[in-house]
Amino acid sequence: MSILFSPAQIGSLQLRNRLVMTPIHLGYSPKGEVNDQLIEFYRARARGGVGLIIVGGCGIDRIGNAFGMTQLDDDRFIPGLRRLVDAVHEEGAKIVPQLYQAGRYAHSALTGQPSVAPSPIASRLTGQTPEELTEGKIVEIIASFVSAAKRSQAAGFDGVEILASAGYLISQFLSPVTNQRTDRYGGDLEARMTFGLEVVEAVREAVGPDYPIIVRVAGNDFVPGSHTNTESRAFCQALEKAGVNAINVTGGWHETPVPQLTMNVPPGAYTYLASGIKQVVSIPVIACNRINTPDLAEEILEEGKADFIGMARPLLADPELPNKAMNGHSELIRQCIGCNQGCLDYVFRLKPTSCLVNAEAGREAELASSGPTKESQRILVIGAGPAGMEFARVATARGHQVTIWEESEQSGGQLKLAASPPGRQDFLNLGTYLANACLELGVTIEYNVKATSEKVLSAVQENFTRVVIATGARPISPPIPIEAGVETLQAWDVLLGRGKIGKNVIVVGGGAVGVDTALLLAECGTLDNDTLRFLMLQHAETDKELYRLLTQGSKRITVLEMDKGIGRDIGPSTRWSMLADLKRYKVNCHDQTKVLEVRADGVLVENDGTQKVIPADTVILAVGSRSNNELYLALQGKIESLSIIGDAAKPRKVLDAIHEAYAEAIRV
Ligand code: SF4
Repeated sequence: MSILFSPAQIGSLQLRNRLVMTPIHLGYSPKGEVNDQLIEFYRARARGGVGLIIVGGCGIDRIGNAFGMTQLDDDRFIPGLRRLVDAVHEEGAKIVPQLYQAGRYAHSALTGQPSVAPSPIASRLTGQTPEELTEGKIVEIIASFVSAAKRSQAAGFDGVEILASAGYLISQFLSPVTNQRTDRYGGDLEARMTFGLEVVEAVREAVGPDYPIIVRVAGNDFVPGSHTNTESRAFCQALEKAGVNAINVTGGWHETPVPQLTMNVPPGAYTYLASGIKQVVSIPVIACNRINTPDLAEEILEEGKADFIGMARPLLADPELPNKAMNGHSELIRQCIGCNQGCLDYVFRLKPTSCLVNAEAGREAELASSGPTKESQRILVIGAGPAGMEFARVATARGHQVTIWEESEQSGGQLKLAASPPGRQDFLNLGTYLANACLELGVTIEYNVKATSEKVLSAVQENFTRVVIATGARPISPPIPIEAGVETLQAWDVLLGRGKIGKNVIVVGGGAVGVDTALLLAECGTLDNDTLRFLMLQHAETDKELYRLLTQGSKRITVLEMDKGIGRDIGPSTRWSMLADLKRYKVNCHDQTKVLEVRADGVLVENDGTQKVIPADTVILAVGSRSNNELYLALQGKIESLSIIGDAAKPRKVLDAIHEAYAEAIRV
């Protein structure tokens, strides 16, 4: 009997199961309004079986909001909000908005006014210094929370969530790092809790005793000098006394140096924070962050670490996750891989949220009319990488008959490369999902088939009406002189475990592939997980020594990049943590450094007009790739219905390959 899919309650709110879609910034409401894009996005998640949806954040005012947010700061939004609520209710789920006030995380370029905070301390997120709130302005903001809650009630929402985590306004009042006030809102922990509790008490009074209120807290701020789980527990106990019905526990602030949402965060890593809070409150606790499979969710509930499971990105990736799990088809769940390429990276670029693995995310309204094909075709796809398989999956689901020819003995293409570095193995989940989905739909995949133009033309004559080329890319070698007898390696081979690597390694190329390769090699010779656990349990070494053993490998690694900056093609949500890892592992990084020659004793480089030789026994090339498009060029003009997708058309990110394949599959 599943605990996850058993009914449960938050205050007076009866839910069909314990799976909560936690808030995710979508950016779908350019003017603050509810529109069809937002409604159909959430309708799909409700139809997919989730118990409760928390929409948000939703702006309670204009001084503390972000781009494209759904707004709760004016009565004119109520009819639209009601349409959203009705759509979700029709599908059997419940829905609450998250009341959002960013304080010093709001950017004046977006709000048109200076941000506000308990104290004028510059935000590392925006680089701006907020204005200190006067007591009068504090009263106004509390009133805005109240008005937003009342509008939520008027629109038919089933409750509200108050945002008090991640470094937003209420957390700024809670923390001694950002609250240096000397009035009744500042001082010791009790005083710093005053603002958050006044918000809760005012909202409770306005909405009545039975209207569910959830508060989202940081289980640990992970900011030096700020709160740990100890202070968070004290705040949650006070929230319970103030009439809050559930606590939604997330990790640290946006300013934290500890990654919260990147792929290298182990699944369920922050559940202990929710568990710590659950020990001191009697109201339900929601555990979040990188809980991306129903099995893990079930385990957390079974072990009593939380009462509900929060998932945001997993439901962006697959709205049908709950139904698939309930129907015993977890293998068909399109897992969130923690890449952040379509969600957080889009938010940082002020683009509406999408998803690497789900090209439909955010386009549910627009794609509603792209149903089954009227004319089924027999399609031959060359290449079982992510683009080829995604095309095959979607085209088959629309009624076409698809066969894939794959040159190697397995599917997945470059996903194997992407998954090689430490903490990146989730990329393989995408390949597994696509293979399972293709199998389920009846796509034929033939392995070890070398597709020549003659062979394809003959197959077309016999059987196929359309050919799609998805042959991927191959690495390039730069036009650098190499001394006779000296051998270089391609990063792609190193990532696949091929080639003999020495102790003194130079990686030529500081893009994503170069950084991945450097990090993979940097871990060689460091402490393995079992030994670390053993040594820690035995108190055998100091923390400092363990850290040294974890980060000091057996190779000396140097990354050389010709342009300015290392890892420039890595998304902003992930790049900072990879750069921190390079530093941690003492990888030498030199940008604006031109490689002039690869020699037997190392690499001759030029930087700022000075030349020198950097010693190396292994030189690895990571300077980019080019399309594998020879087959396409050979077939052009000979097949009427011929197209090319993914890296075979132009080397790009996996997201581009998946989205392009999807677009082609709904076009044919
Ligand atoms: Fe998950 Fe990546 Fe999709 Fe974001 S873009 S929801 S991290 S798979």
